Amino acid sequence: MDKKPLNIESRLAQIGSVQEPVTGAINFPIYQATAFRHPKLGQSTGFDYIRTKSPTRQVLEDACAELESGDAGFACSSGMAALQTVFALFGQGDHLIVSLDLYGGTYRLLERIMSKFGVTATYVDTNDLDALEQSRQPNTKAVFIETPTNPLMMITDIEAVCTWASRHQLLTIVDNTLLTPYFQRPIELGADIVVHSATKYLGGHNDVLAGLIVTKGKELSEEMAFLHNSIGAVLSPSDSYQLMRGMKTLALRMERHQSNATTVATFLQGHPAVEEVFYPGLPEHPGYDIQSRQSSGNTGIFSFKVKDARYVEPVLRHIRLIAFAESLGGVESLMTYPAVQTHADIPVEIREAVGVDDRLLRFSVGIEFAEDLIADLDQALNAAMAEVEGGELR
Ligand SMILES: *Cc1c(COP(=O)(O)O)cnc(C)c1O
Repeated sequence: MDKKPLNIESRLAQIGSVQEPVTGAINFPIYQATAFRHPKLGQSTGFDYIRTKSPTRQVLEDACAELESGDAGFACSSGMAALQTVFALFGQGDHLIVSLDLYGGTYRLLERIMSKFGVTATYVDTNDLDALEQSRQPNTKAVFIETPTNPLMMITDIEAVCTWASRHQLLTIVDNTLLTPYFQRPIELGADIVVHSATKYLGGHNDVLAGLIVTKGKELSEEMAFLHNSIGAVLSPSDSYQLMRGMKTLALRMERHQSNATTVATFLQGHPAVEEVFYPGLPEHPGYDIQSRQSSGNTGIFSFKVKDARYVEPVLRHIRLIAFAESLGGVESLMTYPAVQTHADIPVEIREAVGVDDRLLRFSVGIEFAEDLIADLDQALNAAMAEVEGGELR
């Protein structure tokens, strides 16, 4: 009898369920053990030592591989740990082509750490196939993309990049943090590796630090398993549990993040203090068509540019419901000032060339009631305008 595959909402809600045969516990337990007894010489239960493989982490890793349509999943102690593990595929003399508007920590890892191991990177608009071709070198090994990018929400056509990359035997690596497998599955579009800061939407509650890697193909999966174990930046059993718990509600949260972000972004477009809103869910966004084709929904974060840089400080001082804080993807709304926070490690020239300037604010829209968020933003923006125009600020 053919079994219809479960929809993603059901698979998410059931992560770890019906896998604990001893007690029948509805959710998978936290196995704190670091060592596992061998039945006899030459035999193993499949678990030997926690760094290599641990039961709670494994349930999470299998779920992630399945959700991203990959072959193997690897849970890491942070998004940066996942990125470092992936970049360890490369070494002396290797070259990478990387999205121009990039998460600041990834840029720092490449420029300050990977550079010491002889890995170089060229930053280009990955949606421009000519730019990709021009930046390709004989030693180029992979293309690394973020789509949407953070904070400018630039969209890359994943399938087009994967087709180009595979023609030149390059790996395609996608940071899928902003959309999660609920809205976008890069491996189905041809990518080889997906990475996540699971600290963001997957965890979803601003309370767990974690990273994930999903690989496609046997050889790559085996190599990643070797790196994951050898580097050792793996996720703990309790954090693995916490992450799975968050992921069970991913579908509900992403739908709400999307609808709230659309409502709030539309409001901001009409506000006199705001010059421009960058959100791929708005039809006027340049990436709207590609985004609609390759993803089934939109993220809950967007950026906006205020008309005067002097508005920034009072806006951040006046927001009350929305917290001025440096993360994204949680149920609580957070506002970030990329130029001084997340993107401070990117040189000013590069940052400003892409548009991350001192008037740009990033808003991670939570799951609160949209009208409450609008009211908070409205009062903060109006107060900022009054202070600046009233001459209270210089
Ligand atoms: C936060 C983030 C990272 C880094 O992840 P951590 O969990 O903070 O280590 C990487 N990529 C993107 C897109 C992020 O937003």
